[in-house]
Amino acid sequence: MKKETIALHAGYEKDEQKTMAVPIYMTTAYAFDSAEHAANLFALKELGNIYTRIGNPTTDVFEKRFAALEGGVAALATSSGMAAINYSILNLCETGDNIIAANQLYGGTVTLFTHTLKRLGIEARMFDVHKPELIEKLIDEKTKAIFFESITNPSIDVPDFEKIVAIAKKHNILTIVDNTVATPILCNPIEYGVDVVVHSTSKYTTGQGLALGGIIVEAESAKEKIKNNSRYNHFNEPDASYHGLVYSDTPFPPFILRARLSLLRDMGSAPSPFNSWLFIQGLEHLNLRIKQHSQSALEIAKWLKNHPKVKRVNYPLLEGDKNYENAKKYLKGGASGLLSFEVESFEEAKKIADSVKIFSRVVNIGDSKSIITHPASTTHQQLSAEELELAGVSEGLIRLSIGLEVVEDLIADLEQAME
Ligand SMILES: *Cc1c(COP(=O)(O)O)cnc(C)c1O
Repeated sequence: MKKETIALHAGYEKDEQKTMAVPIYMTTAYAFDSAEHAANLFALKELGNIYTRIGNPTTDVFEKRFAALEGGVAALATSSGMAAINYSILNLCETGDNIIAANQLYGGTVTLFTHTLKRLGIEARMFDVHKPELIEKLIDEKTKAIFFESITNPSIDVPDFEKIVAIAKKHNILTIVDNTVATPILCNPIEYGVDVVVHSTSKYTTGQGLALGGIIVEAESAKEKIKNNSRYNHFNEPDASYHGLVYSDTPFPPFILRARLSLLRDMGSAPSPFNSWLFIQGLEHLNLRIKQHSQSALEIAKWLKNHPKVKRVNYPLLEGDKNYENAKKYLKGGASGLLSFEVESFEEAKKIADSVKIFSRVVNIGDSKSIITHPASTTHQQLSAEELELAGVSEGLIRLSIGLEVVEDLIADLEQAME
């Protein structure tokens, strides 16, 4: 089945009410038939609902559908994208361990890795996505994951997946990719050998800026890497907190099983069933939306490139962009609605952001309404000129998230703002 069809049907069996739309199971807990039934559920002898922090029937449809869309074997939805990213690392690391992560990452992920996880004794060793050959010398026996984004936010780079995955395979280390910006429609990292995919579903999945959510997807390859691998002893030895369960010995995908039974149980960033339902609605037309976002963004990128006030345009599928070859290879049918461009000065960029009428000044992406951000005066305000340069954010940089408005209207809006 093609992805466009999967997005409409996977994971939902109509119950006796035969509802076409997936029902919202707004409940905290579920009744057991008997004490024995309860005992079997807790012991995983039988699968079923126990408590919504661990699982919910509406969320289950969303998880199954998303796993199918990414080509994975299981998924776990969380209350936000940051929760999904945090769990994907905590599922592998303890104090003294390290991960290798791209320099070019979402701001919240950077602070999670370099401040919050650091306080827990987990070290992030950073690499430039344009120099994957430098990863190898960062690896040691305590390295538990290599983490990068498929289209980076906000720098809009496309890494060379195959080069990174080859290094990870050689050392038997799991790769984790944040596929938020590309969406499962434009890119399936699992096809290139990635083991775990994470998303903020707050962006293109809902598509209308309606709700916060995240999801972790496990590829079949994760179990092969985890099983009997001394890097991942906690998957191969009895878990005292779950009656001595050995995650890699069960018939279930071990990464998601442990994230659910251990992390969700103990840390609790569970999604609302209502939000899961919103994401199911979003997936039904994600395919149509992301292609339109991408087509409009490419048109605007081309228009900006010819504008006399524009010094540089960053869009991976724009010919001449430094990511063009990787984008052609790894992205299918578009590069999303995210683009950025540079004008001469801080003042000029600020004036443009202040003068647009259709674009909203918002720090978000992936909404059906177009968004403009001037990082130097907002998200990156606290950084020094030097730090801005390291982050690839110049004072005159403007980021756009192109929505679903008619592209001529968006160009006219930019044109009047840039006069
Ligand atoms: C927004 C975003 C996140 C964080 O997701 P939330 O749902 O806001 O917690 C993570 N990664 C990327 C690439 C994002 O754009």
